[in-house]
Amino acid sequence: AKAVVAETPTAPPPASTVKISSRERVVFPGDGITKGELADYYGAMAGVMLPWLGRRPISLVRCPQGRAKQCFFQKHDAGSFGEQVHHVDIREKDGGTEPYLYVEDAAGMLACVQMGTIEFHGWGARVEDVEKPDRLVFDLDPDEGLDFDDVKRAAEQIKTVLADMGLTSFPMLSGGKGVHVIVPLTPHAEWPAVKSFADRFARALAADDPDRFVATATKAKRKGRIFIDWLRNQRGATAVLPYVVRARPGAPVAAPVAWSEFKRLDTAGRWTLRDTDELIERAESRLLKGWGIADQVLPEI
Ligand code: ATP
Ligand code: MN
Ligand code: MN
Repeated sequence: AKAVVAETPTAPPPASTVKISSRERVVFPGDGITKGELADYYGAMAGVMLPWLGRRPISLVRCPQGRAKQCFFQKHDAGSFGEQVHHVDIREKDGGTEPYLYVEDAAGMLACVQMGTIEFHGWGARVEDVEKPDRLVFDLDPDEGLDFDDVKRAAEQIKTVLADMGLTSFPMLSGGKGVHVIVPLTPHAEWPAVKSFADRFARALAADDPDRFVATATKAKRKGRIFIDWLRNQRGATAVLPYVVRARPGAPVAAPVAWSEFKRLDTAGRWTLRDTDELIERAESRLLKGWGIADQVLPEI
């Protein structure tokens, strides 16, 4: 048995033991943002990011030559990231297992940046129990031509329907075009039940309001509507994590926001990597206190 001793002195974790090479390399051409600045952003943000990013299977968007060159999504690794990036073996459909990546500290995040990572995406479950989701995400993907007001109205409507079911939700600007409505869950139900809930929720919404919503991915059906991408809620799917820098022009950030300020926002790319201080201030402010936290399970519908 593990002896647990109260007051055991524990050394503070090292701020970072990861060496970032080529700090001057420009990763966001047009914005002049370098690899060094990206590393500094993630180093500074690690404290507010790790409650969401830490100990969760992740996929990385790596752009070793910068965001304007080839980028790729990476889920697995044979060990080239070094010892700060950990592996969790997850069962695959074919019965075998694959090692998925996870980090648990700033050094782990920076080891990923050192390898050319710009974006961190996460499973909706933690490494402790990958079969039981700890959040649901409704990823609102507007058709081209819709404006941000339409996206906001849709998000507010989803918030209301969820609230009527007794579920608390939180909005996050994706840093791209849309908004993610996030429903924290106490890990309880397994993936098939959570996916089924998300599917039925999205379909019911689209059936009720077909002019505004569509629940199928087909581009043609999206015309003038918002696709409620409920497929983020199946086993193995990922969504961009809070405060991640997007590999898009201007280095916009996936930004948690409060419903109370939501109406005043006019773009999903409101904050960028250059707003580090403001993002930390916001994260620690009363406005965002408790953001993303709710002890709740899905109702039977
Ligand atoms: P936007 O607001 O512009 O839609 P987004 O992050 O929501 O930004 P989506 O294209 O809607 O972008 O994708 C939603 C999520 O699905 C992503 O955050 C990512 O985690 C996952 N995803 C998207 N494309 C891929 C891909 N090629 N491989 C794996 N996962 C992906
Ligand atoms: Mn989206
Ligand atoms: Mn999507």
